[in-house]
This record gives sequence, C-alpha cells and structure tokens, in this order.
Amino acid sequence: MGFLSGKTALVTGSTSGIGEACARAYAAEGANIVLNGFGDAGEIEKLRAGIESEHGVRAIYSDADLTRPEKIEEMTTMALDTFGAVDILHNNAGVQHVAPIEDFPVEKWDLIIGLNLSSSFHTARLLMKQMKERKWGRLIFTASAHALVASPYKAAYVAAKHGIAGLTKVLALEGAAHGVTANAICPGYVWTPLVEKQIPDTMKSRGMSRDEVINEVLLDAQPTKKFVTVEQVAAMALYLASDNAENINGSLQVIDGGWTAQ
Ligand code: NAD
Repeated sequence: MGFLSGKTALVTGSTSGIGEACARAYAAEGANIVLNGFGDAGEIEKLRAGIESEHGVRAIYSDADLTRPEKIEEMTTMALDTFGAVDILHNNAGVQHVAPIEDFPVEKWDLIIGLNLSSSFHTARLLMKQMKERKWGRLIFTASAHALVASPYKAAYVAAKHGIAGLTKVLALEGAAHGVTANAICPGYVWTPLVEKQIPDTMKSRGMSRDEVINEVLLDAQPTKKFVTVEQVAAMALYLASDNAENINGSLQVIDGGWTAQ
C-alpha cells in the first residue's frame, strides 16, 4: 500500500517527459491516474496499460487539447465520473518557441499562453471546489527556472511561467485553510523532447552549432553542468504530494543545479 493509495492524480501532458515520469511516480505510490497529452495512440495505450499492470492501479487517458477550455472540462468531468475525485492536480503540459520578439509568431504567443498558463487556470477552476470539500488536495505545477529568471528569445514561455508562479501563490492562499496546497516545481534544463526540439531554433537564433547550443546555452546556465532528470522532478512532485509537505504552500521549488542562485 503506497501513501497515495485510494487517491487520484490527474497529470496534464503526461504522455511524455516530465509528466510521464510524475504519473508513474504517483502510480507507484498507489494513486489512480488520469493521463493526458498527445502522441501515437498505440504508445499511449501501452503506457496506460503498463501503469495499470505494473502498479495495480487504474489509469485512464484523455486526449484533451488543453488550449481548448471545453476540452479541459470534458477531461475533468471524465476524471470525476470515473474516480469520484481528483486529489492531485499536476499541471504540467507545456510547449516552447524560441524567436526574437520582432519575429515571434502571434499564433505561438497565443498557443503558449493558452497551454502553459491558461490551461492551469481552467483545471484549477474546475477541480478546486471538490478538493476543498474533501479537505485535502495538492495542486502541483511544473513551472520552470523561467518562472524566476528570463532568457532572451523566449517571451511567451517566460511570461507564462512567471504567470504560473503568481497563480501558484494565489491558489496556495485560497486552499490553505482547506487542506489544499499549491506549489510549483522550477526545473532548469531537463533532457526531454521539449529541450531537444528547441535546439534547431536556438542554433538559428544564435548562429551556433548543436554542441555549442548544448554546452554554451543550455548547460551554461546550470553550474552543475548536468541536465536535471525527469526522475528527479518526479521525486519532488511525490514529496509535495505527501503529508510531510502539508506546510509547504505557495513555494517555488527550484531544481536547477544552481542556475537561479547566480
Ligand atoms: P515534453 O514535450 O516531453 O512533454 C510535453 C507534454 O505536453 C506531452 O505529453 C505533450 O503531448 C503535451 N502537450 C503538448 N501540447 C498539448 C496540448 N495542446 N494539450 C495537451 N497536452 C499537450 O516536455 P517536458 O520537457 O516533459 O515538459 C513538461 C513541462 O515541463 C512543460 O510545462 C515545460 O515547460 C516544463 N519544463 C521543462 C523543462 C525541460 O528542460 N524539459 C524545464 C523546465 C520546465
């Protein structure tokens, strides 16, 4: 029996990277899981069925596009209809686009603000009440070191992640008296498809080779000179979901090798 046995965790953007690792970690402690994200249908089904068989929990999947509020509501309704409650809401889905402001495509700005920021407003808006009623809940956000500091060419992402920091603090105050905490995890560079995909654009924006981008841009920011692993982020998420963390509220938990200490 894990410490999340009988609880349900909804993790957005959990078909890949950090979200997948967090979903697996919650399931390993006994939580039923609501997966969400895009990807190959066969691979997603393999992930869903694998979580069920490996951990003896139930896992369901929502293909909701989180830039669409009505799809978010369909997802939260499906979660509540299936499990009766969502105890852990982990807002994780996010994308990146790298371009100087004068060339930043308007549709990329709208996408990133919609997905990386507004979707968290919608999931929280729809799930907070039932957490308060049960007097226990965990709102966990995958923010970023970019919730605390900026980098050039990432206007939408940095704005959205700073917004998540603010939303986390507001929800921490709204939930505090009801057993509901809200915290954001702020990783530096984690080796996932999101990081891999921004290398070509960064090469173009900065006129650099692939190796130069990895060593002089990405790992340059992290004094440990190591990428954060998805398992390290998941371990923090699991701690924030535990009862030991009941007084950690409204915090921004940096896992960035010292990046934001500089
Ligand atoms: P990833 O690309 O591996 O995963 C992103 C997930 O979001 C996938 O499951 C994808 O299908 C899903 N997704 C994308 N668009 C969606 C949409 N419209 N609706 C629903 N789901 C959608 O990336 P990752 O690195 O694991 O990123 C996860 C989170 O971590 C993001 O919020 C990202 O900003 C944050 N983060 C990543 C890093 C890093 O270095 N990788 C660092 C700090 C923060």
